[in-house]
Amino acid sequence: MWIQLAMCLCCLAVGCQGQDRTASLRRADSDFSGRCQYTFTVDSPAESSCPQAGAAGTEMEGVASRLTLLEALVSRLLGEQGAVMVGEAGLQTAEKVSQLQQDNQRINRQVQDLQRRLEELTVEAEQLREKPCQQPPPPGVTTADSDSAFQFGSGAFQEMKAEVSEVPAPPQIRQNGQTQNVTGCGVLVSVEEPVTHHKVDGITGKYGVWFQDPEPAGPPYGPKAVWRIEAVGKEVRQLFAYEDMDQLVRGFPMKVLVLPEAVESTGATVYRGSLYYQRRRSRTIMRYDLAAESLAARLELPHAGFHGQHPYSWGGYTDIDLATDERGLWVIYSSSKAKGAIVVSQLNPDNLEVKKSWETNIRKNTVGNAFMVCGRLYTVASYSLPNTTVNYVFDTDTGESKAIAIPFNNRYRYNSMIDYNPGNKKLYAWDNHHMVTYDIQLA
Ligand code: CA
Repeated sequence: MWIQLAMCLCCLAVGCQGQDRTASLRRADSDFSGRCQYTFTVDSPAESSCPQAGAAGTEMEGVASRLTLLEALVSRLLGEQGAVMVGEAGLQTAEKVSQLQQDNQRINRQVQDLQRRLEELTVEAEQLREKPCQQPPPPGVTTADSDSAFQFGSGAFQEMKAEVSEVPAPPQIRQNGQTQNVTGCGVLVSVEEPVTHHKVDGITGKYGVWFQDPEPAGPPYGPKAVWRIEAVGKEVRQLFAYEDMDQLVRGFPMKVLVLPEAVESTGATVYRGSLYYQRRRSRTIMRYDLAAESLAARLELPHAGFHGQHPYSWGGYTDIDLATDERGLWVIYSSSKAKGAIVVSQLNPDNLEVKKSWETNIRKNTVGNAFMVCGRLYTVASYSLPNTTVNYVFDTDTGESKAIAIPFNNRYRYNSMIDYNPGNKKLYAWDNHHMVTYDIQLA
């Protein structure tokens, strides 16, 4: 403001001189507000034209000296204003410094608290390491009742421990370098490493079925005959017959039978001189007489899912899976009523009538495959993992299932078929072009 006032005054003074006019500046004493008042008087054009050079020069000198005084005054006032601004900034800075100091003190207190808490926890951890781990028993269980599982684990561990059963090792004898179970039937306790018998090249050999009859029916096929179906394709009808395993390994079948109805997937099996299989795109089970080379019986399995409704985890339309064991012929599937849970039915091998059915609580599409041994259904957890397990067993005598964990090796990582042969107590499997068997042990 003062600068603008000074500029105006200067302009007025200079302007007056430029037009040869006379201007006067008078300073009045301070009024009631404490301010000085300056009054300018400029001659009219008539007055300025008068030849009064001496008086005008004196007046101009007075104006110049007063302007000097005015500039000094303005300078001093500006200096005071600047000092006031600096003072205000300094005050704000001081307030901030004070606030930062307070924050610093507060943070220091928090750090000290945390250090003290850390020291307490360190001492507590050391004390816990020196003591044995003790956990309270669950409600309703006294210390005397609780077993070691509660002392060394959680309730969940106890529950899992109860589900996984432990079975004693079976009595064994060694014969021709192989371990044999001395009893005829029992509970599965182990599955040995797979033995590879033959590899089928070509895309049609990716998955399939192969088997030997556990109860051969006699001529024209001998007791060592081997049967094979390559299950890749829309119209699978060819059934390859081999005299024995040696002929299978050489790869030259003794005969190729053409089935009257196409086969669906890998669920077929051979039993008492007949091939049992699911007819393509249906829930119909067929019995094909191998000697007569004709259909002997058929059955529409009531409410059974088929063609991808309830397959094993690898898919492949493995909805209906036929199986044999010491007790006869079985079919493993699921139905609309069971809604994906495995149903196992025992069949009359002559006319295929259902003798009895059991509904399990095992989801069919969560397991890789299944087979029957001594009236018990066993499931394999994965069809592709090399180190998987036989993970469930369902006992048709008790109607109960439970989790187990018997190691199982999918050596070629795509096991599309597993069946049990009660005649030689081996599992037959088709694992990614490879035809393999597994020895098992029963207790
Ligand atoms: Ca099977």
